[in-house]
Amino acid sequence: MDIMLSADQKRFKEECRIFAEKKIAPLAEKYGETDEIPADLVRAMADHGLFQLLAPEALGGKAVKSLPLCLVREQLAGVYCPADVTFAMQGLGSYPLVLAGNEEQRARFLTKLGAGKLLATYALTEPEAGSDVGAIATEAREAAGGFILNGMKRFISNGQAADMAVTFAKTPLPGKPKALSAFIVEKGREGFGVHKRLKMIAPHDLAELKFEDCFLPRENLLGNPGDGLRIALGTLDLFRVSVGAAALGIAQTAFDAALAYAKTRVQFGRPIAGFQGIQFKLADMATELDATRALVYRAALRQDAKGEHITRVASMAKLYATEAAFRIVDQSVQIHGGIGVMAGTTVERLYREIRALRIYEGTTEIQKLVIARSLIDR
Ligand SMILES: Cc1cc2nc3c(=O)[nH]c(=O)nc-3n(C[C@H](O)[C@H](O)[C@H](O)COP(=O)(O)OP(=O)(O)OC[C@H]3O[C@@H](n4cnc5c(N)ncnc54)[C@H](O)[C@@H]3O)c2cc1C
Repeated sequence: MDIMLSADQKRFKEECRIFAEKKIAPLAEKYGETDEIPADLVRAMADHGLFQLLAPEALGGKAVKSLPLCLVREQLAGVYCPADVTFAMQGLGSYPLVLAGNEEQRARFLTKLGAGKLLATYALTEPEAGSDVGAIATEAREAAGGFILNGMKRFISNGQAADMAVTFAKTPLPGKPKALSAFIVEKGREGFGVHKRLKMIAPHDLAELKFEDCFLPRENLLGNPGDGLRIALGTLDLFRVSVGAAALGIAQTAFDAALAYAKTRVQFGRPIAGFQGIQFKLADMATELDATRALVYRAALRQDAKGEHITRVASMAKLYATEAAFRIVDQSVQIHGGIGVMAGTTVERLYREIRALRIYEGTTEIQKLVIARSLIDR
């Protein structure tokens, strides 16, 4: 797969691997399974400059690139999923400002987000609006000097830890009753807060957020009224491939664990790696891993080159990577036998962690719809 990456990209990937191994792995050991986002985890990523990759233009650098995001997420997710989710959410909460923020908004938020002094989240999903974004019911009513928001957001990652959220609400326009607008909401605003924390099968800071007559001044509107859908989807377009990269990182760790275990676990007088039944599993896993990496890197490289059929290749990468990673993790559990389902083992944790990736940022079924539409409409 290395033929797809330039010397610089390979060097960057190796730096990310070393960073994850040296700085993130000890924090994973220290905090284990937690729904909180530890301050020293954020600091480690900030000190390494990772958040600056998410808004470089605003910080005097180059445009946000897909491949570096993927290489970071591949390495972080393989070591500690809460680190990967924190990085991803910082990106999902920053990129709408990169896309649509004015000078004042960028100056107010992006420098601090890039330095990890503020944590961000992205709040789109609602109880009645998951795959169907058009069903969003949260409403922003115009009021003197701004907007008043009412509604509920569900399944919001880093919902508790985030200092600010980019959120989306209906702002009906003439002839467009479902028009959406995007807003920046800071923690501590009256009428806005965590309604309920949600417990997932794997560690994750997940929450419902509630708006109850929450006043937002006009300067918190991103872009113009009605730009919300463009901003929401533009952000997801960039990050979709990187979900595939996170799945790849998890799958690689599961594969490495399976291979090592198969070579050392002895049954019937020899390592189980000597049995063809296990060899076939390892061969399938390695092949799917390579195919995943190829699809993810292809999509990221094409995004960065602004090539053709970006939407389709990005959906293909997210779809295949998350489904293949789930199969690889499952086979790794199988190769570990009873050990694989014991609480506290690596593969048992990965088995719980991989599941949500087939659902968030567009489910497998929605990716298939996107791919099919792009084929039929071509
Ligand atoms: C761990 C986690 C973290 C998340 N973090 C965030 C976050 O930070 N911010 C945020 O805004 N959201 C977040 N989400 C929400 C996530 O994006 C949604 O869960 C996802 O889009 C699916 O919506 P839903 O759960 O309401 O399922 P639904 O949309 O109700 O779907 C239920 C099932 O129906 C299928 N389905 C729906 N429509 C169709 C169709 N047209 N054709 C075929 N099948 C269909 C789906 O694929 C799925 O299998 C998170 C979710 C999870 C689980």
